Amino acid sequence: MNFYDSQVILEQMKRCGYKETNDERAANLIILNTCSIRAHAEERVFSKLGEIKKLKQEKKELIVGICGCMAQYHRRALFERFKFLDFIVSPSNINRLQNIIEEIKEDKTKVAYLGNFKNSLKNINPDKKGKVSAYLPIMFGCSNFCSYCVVPFLRGKSRSRKLKEIIKEVKELSNQGCREVVLVGQNVTFYGKDLNNEATFSNLLKEINSIENIKRIRFITSHPKDLSEDIINCFSKFPKVCPHIHLPIQSGSDKILSLMNRGYTIKTYQDLVEKLRKEVKNISITTDIMVGFPDETQEDFKDTLNLVEEIKFDQAFTFKYSPRKDTLAFKMKNQVEDKIAKERLQALITFQNKISKKNNEKYLSSIQEVLVEGESSKYEDRLYGRTDNFKTVLFDGSKDIVGRLVKVVIVGYNMRTLKGNILND
Ligand code: SAH
Ligand code: SF4
Repeated sequence: MNFYDSQVILEQMKRCGYKETNDERAANLIILNTCSIRAHAEERVFSKLGEIKKLKQEKKELIVGICGCMAQYHRRALFERFKFLDFIVSPSNINRLQNIIEEIKEDKTKVAYLGNFKNSLKNINPDKKGKVSAYLPIMFGCSNFCSYCVVPFLRGKSRSRKLKEIIKEVKELSNQGCREVVLVGQNVTFYGKDLNNEATFSNLLKEINSIENIKRIRFITSHPKDLSEDIINCFSKFPKVCPHIHLPIQSGSDKILSLMNRGYTIKTYQDLVEKLRKEVKNISITTDIMVGFPDETQEDFKDTLNLVEEIKFDQAFTFKYSPRKDTLAFKMKNQVEDKIAKERLQALITFQNKISKKNNEKYLSSIQEVLVEGESSKYEDRLYGRTDNFKTVLFDGSKDIVGRLVKVVIVGYNMRTLKGNILND
């Protein structure tokens, strides 16, 4: 979602006449798009602001602003701590940036746009020309209020976009040469439930499936409590829906899941995995797991490891619980000592890495259909792409095949990527 928001920001700055640069010293405008999910993400922004302060001292006309969740989380306190900031803009207001920049240039005052959660439905359509794969938000905000999470406070309640509006955008993307759409939302499996009409997630998939030049449909993130049979059936009913699901489990302990207010049990999750693996050939399942949540005992953590061993996720994004003000978990008893949480995180990462690598072994010598997404930034003539089930494949080839579906034989692997040789047709 943040990646998409950055594109919306960039698009508007282009319309204001700015050009992109990688050189901070050459910039006349610096915008940090930020995340408040964990304190760690924020600390990196604070240290970056320290560097930018020096640039601003040398170049008084430099405009500096903070966009995204940190603006909404810290609000005007950011102006007190970082006196040189010109503006702060919350996620729901980023589509006003063009006006905001003009306001700052004219009035030379500090500007804050916060709250206003309904606003985000009016979207700026970032330029996607030449993109093989494009992110497309289908909803904003989240109404789940998991007890650890700040998203509902910072991005507001769930608001689905109109089905017709999304389809129109996918058609435009397809006409511009895009081959894959990635539908994004905090809980895409909830799509449409807040609209008073026939729009459902499965209807949306059905309609996109019929758009000719779109070859692949992906979506993130799915929530176990809303993953219905109707949605699972879409994988086999609509051939363009890729066999990959990101289905965050968070913990292997029912006690912790309940404290987290996740709305499902381990048994529900296990049943979903069984159904998905039975009904969708080659499906890969990725997940998010958090350790060190309040009241997580060594036993609870062991349950998480056991579940990870049992399910054998293709990949897991692992996090150490970070207390966030306003959330219910912030005030919970039995907060876990940081040292213990760190140890658990390290143990979990080591454990999952072995599983991820082992999972990739089975691809050796297989032939995969890969959508060529671009050139590797490290090596010349090295391309990267994805299999339909979301495995990254690296292989040699020339960049004029970017955007095409090619056949690749897999000759190597590690825990994150597959290595292949392209087959000539
Ligand atoms: N809407 C998505 C996730 C969005 S946040 C979902 O519910 O699946 C991405 C991940 O960040 C979450 O799945 C969770 O594992 C992690 N996360 C969220 N809040 C956190 C916190 N306070 N501390 C640590 N990790 C957190
Ligand atoms: Fe946060 Fe839970 Fe909503 Fe995901 S589903 S954004 S973790 S509140």
